Amino acid sequence: VTEYLRPGDLGDARAALAEHGADATVTAGGQSLSLLLRQGLLDPAVLLDVGSVPSLAGVEVTPDRVTVGAVTTYSALESHTVSSSVPMLGEAVEVIADRQIRNLGTVGGAVAHADPSLDVVPPLLCLDATVHLGSVDGERAEPLSAFHDGFMTTTLAADELVEAVSFPNDTADWGSAYTSHSPVERGWSSAGVAARVRLGDDGDAVAEARCAAGALADTGVRLPTVEAALSGASTDADAVARAAAAVGDDIDPLDDTTGSTEYKTDLATVLVERTVARAVERARAGEGADARGASA
Ligand SMILES: Cc1cc2nc3c(=O)[nH]c(=O)nc-3n(C[C@H](O)[C@H](O)[C@H](O)COP(=O)(O)OP(=O)(O)OC[C@H]3O[C@@H](n4cnc5c(N)ncnc54)[C@H](O)[C@@H]3O)c2cc1C
Repeated sequence: VTEYLRPGDLGDARAALAEHGADATVTAGGQSLSLLLRQGLLDPAVLLDVGSVPSLAGVEVTPDRVTVGAVTTYSALESHTVSSSVPMLGEAVEVIADRQIRNLGTVGGAVAHADPSLDVVPPLLCLDATVHLGSVDGERAEPLSAFHDGFMTTTLAADELVEAVSFPNDTADWGSAYTSHSPVERGWSSAGVAARVRLGDDGDAVAEARCAAGALADTGVRLPTVEAALSGASTDADAVARAAAAVGDDIDPLDDTTGSTEYKTDLATVLVERTVARAVERARAGEGADARGASA
């Protein structure tokens, strides 16, 4: 790295990226990038630190949408009301490494890094999140599910910044939960599952379900077979277990040092079962409904 740039506003950040393009690498918290630099896997001429651009920080809640600025740290998200009104988001942030990494790591950095085992991705997929991208040429928005188009790859162009992630501020009675498993305490997840359910009027059946998993395919993935099996089904333990058993159709886990494909499929089944059960409890208790607006 021969030049370190720290623009103070978004216009300057976009302009610097337009000027340096492929010679520049963007950073925010530096928690993933510094490892790549240290290992010599990356050696950009210019490091563009967007971590102090004020308009990229913070969470905005309107009646329609919740928008999380790209440089919002995990700690900032954890202490925002959205983490209790959308419990699966709060739970995903809580399990990330340690306080130091949560104080520096950013939501936009995670979305741009696109590692399939990042904990914040499954809840965002369940929320049908949109990624907001910007450059000197303008802005565009893309569903997170399309933005992550392969193992640690995205559709981000060399002159584009991830500027925010947003999702609908649903006011219906959703309950949500996130569960992950790591072989090491507070280590990277070998599997993570987020679930979000809305119950029918009598509270005994699932009206709608959204489920997603991390670390079980090339990218974070929605679980459409599980979702279809849950929708309209009873909330009793047997029905949830039957739906969870379908997860093998939705994932493609690698056989690696964190476990065999068979082990990870069994793990995913257990995680889906437990996570959906907790989401159902929360939907029943109305825990997702928060006076400040966001709910899940
Ligand atoms: C020891 C350790 C343990 C960890 N454990 C966990 C864990 O348990 N669970 C978990 O989910 N994560 C874990 N992480 C990863 C952490 O979540 C990510 O490092 C962090 O969120 C990335 O954000 P950042 O701001 O630090 O990104 P950076 O490291 O600054 O950047 C990461 C990548 O994103 C790009 N980028 C960053 N911001 C933008 C932007 N606004 N626009 C365009 N591109 C951008 C960079 O160019 C780079 O390619 C761990 C990291 C470390 C170092």
